[in-house]
Amino acid sequence: MEFLQALQGALAAYGLKVTDEQCAAMNRYYELLLAWNEKMNLTAITQPQEVAVKHMVDSLSCLDPEFIPPDSALIDVGTGAGFPGLPLKIVRPDIRLTLLDSLNKRLNFLQEVTSALKLKHVDIVHGRAEETGKSKQYRERFQVATARAVARLNVLCELCLPFVAVGGYFIALKGAQYQEELGEAQNALRLLGGDVAHIRPVKLPGLDDVRAVIYIRKIAATPGEYPRRPGMPEKKPL
Ligand code: SAM
Repeated sequence: MEFLQALQGALAAYGLKVTDEQCAAMNRYYELLLAWNEKMNLTAITQPQEVAVKHMVDSLSCLDPEFIPPDSALIDVGTGAGFPGLPLKIVRPDIRLTLLDSLNKRLNFLQEVTSALKLKHVDIVHGRAEETGKSKQYRERFQVATARAVARLNVLCELCLPFVAVGGYFIALKGAQYQEELGEAQNALRLLGGDVAHIRPVKLPGLDDVRAVIYIRKIAATPGEYPRRPGMPEKKPL
């Protein structure tokens, strides 16, 4: 009950309209997150109010029909315990979701949540973005790629833009250093076919820290040499 109330309060404060059913789904997700967090490291954030704001509302802060059109194929890169991918899917069931992470253990949790919430069209993929982004099955197959708390923007561009079809968007959920990261990412954007379309500063209910959602449009195909082999994007950012 405590989480449900916190969630409803935080969603209303942020101005998001979510049905009772969708709130109940997020509540179940929260219960599973806490239960599984006992046996594996999924999140350091566990208090109801904090999970409601910093995981659920933060994930939903990137929702925008202009950049995530109906029935979009969306890949969440480095999804961890499912953020932002699963809250987006709960609120936008039309999305065809792919959750990608290199840590296999976490994927069992994602499978459990997907089954418990009876979510349809969710593909859970174990792999590194550097490799998965090279495979024909995934490369430039998505209207949208999202990522939160995976790497700095210049690195993330190399991990995420290869998945996005030309005309689609890579959506980065970023913290206080987003302007500095944007400056650093100019070369990567140019090389990989990305162009910053929109930056939305985000103020989460009850928090003072600065965040932003960065919408990057894919304006040209990513050259075949990218992403480079695993570890290289991080080691030698473009
Ligand atoms: N996105 C989630 C969130 O915001 O709560 C998880 C963030 S967690 C700090 C980073 C996640 O990215 C980890 O689960 C890690 O395994 C994954 N990851 C890091 N590098 C990756 C890569 N190259 N390919 C796929 N997953 C990666």
